[in-house]
Amino acid sequence: MNRVSDVLVVGAGPIGLETAAVLSAEGHDVQVVDAGPLGATISRTFPPHTRFFTSPERLALFGLAIAPLAQEKLTGEEYLAYLRQYVATHELKVDTFTEVVAGTVGPVRLVGLTASGLHRTYEARTLVLATGGTDRPRRLGVPGEDLPHVRSHLGDPHRYAGRRVLIVGGRNSAVESALRCYRVGAQVHLCHRRAAVHERVKFWLRPEVQSLLDEGAIVGHLPREVVEITREHVVLSGGERLEVDDIVLQIGYEQDGELFDMFGVPRAGGRGAPVIDPVTMRVSDDVYVVGTATAGTQDRFEIFIENSHDHPQRVAAALAGRPAPSPRRARPIPEV
Ligand SMILES: Cc1cc2nc3c(=O)[nH]c(=O)nc-3n(C[C@H](O)[C@H](O)[C@H](O)COP(=O)(O)OP(=O)(O)OC[C@H]3O[C@@H](n4cnc5c(N)ncnc54)[C@H](O)[C@@H]3O)c2cc1C
Repeated sequence: MNRVSDVLVVGAGPIGLETAAVLSAEGHDVQVVDAGPLGATISRTFPPHTRFFTSPERLALFGLAIAPLAQEKLTGEEYLAYLRQYVATHELKVDTFTEVVAGTVGPVRLVGLTASGLHRTYEARTLVLATGGTDRPRRLGVPGEDLPHVRSHLGDPHRYAGRRVLIVGGRNSAVESALRCYRVGAQVHLCHRRAAVHERVKFWLRPEVQSLLDEGAIVGHLPREVVEITREHVVLSGGERLEVDDIVLQIGYEQDGELFDMFGVPRAGGRGAPVIDPVTMRVSDDVYVVGTATAGTQDRFEIFIENSHDHPQRVAAALAGRPAPSPRRARPIPEV
């Protein structure tokens, strides 16, 4: 099966979809493909009912406002519903569960592997990579990390009720996980390599976790590192052994850069960020990179949704030969 379009966008996250809508509005025929569902990163990484830090109006994409029912920050589920509505409103062509596994540029020709194992070919004049930066969870690099009771995504907190859980990390995801496990009746341990949780943890979470740590309701192991994990226990630096049922690693994500290498996108610096022209988002005549994919692996989020909204406009201007729009200012978001 062969699909031909003017522009092929890889990644149906918020910025990939926004790029598709902006370019469609300019008259381009746009096809989007994604290895997962719409908003796969949010669907995979947000535990149920987790709220964005960014306020709704800053999450809204080109051409469709968000009207939150309770004027509050959105949950992941609410934003995914918005993305579904976005695709329908802009009549975007999106092939979900189609992973790009091979391809060349000049001209653009890609092979997508569908969920049923079909190979589908895509051809286009222009390729836009909107592939994000959270391809795989960071690893501790200690023995036992692959044991079945060690996981990198919290999932539904309900599963931890009545269990002994060690959360590893000290940023937002770790703190939020610790609080939610505590609230479902888990016996929670929090291990972080620094002496305190991160100062940029969401302002509505930090005082609560701190008071629970102070009173010992959540048992803090700070500063400590995990040295080894066995089926029976976890060994921490300093020699302490903890007996727990579940270990949840919340220590961030890495970009894998595989598609950049596939399409000859040069990468630079410790974060492996793609080398692009920041005015046009262009890498070469037929390849552009937008969204959080432009940042490589982020230790702290500097590129996120609200300061990527100008990327699609830059690509549109470059394709039309117009001057690029001026950059948008964004407020920083806390550590994820
Ligand atoms: C717990 C948590 C809270 C967060 N809170 C916020 C917040 O408050 N504000 C904010 O702005 N951001 C937040 N983020 C980050 C947020 O998830 C990203 O900013 C957002 O998803 C980035 O959008 P994007 O379109 O650039 O990339 P992504 O949403 O990451 O989309 C990339 C897409 O590319 C697809 N893809 C990758 N490789 C391939 C391939 N080979 N073939 C096909 N498809 C591929 C992926 O499946 C994915 O759907 C948070 C993240 C986490 C984990």
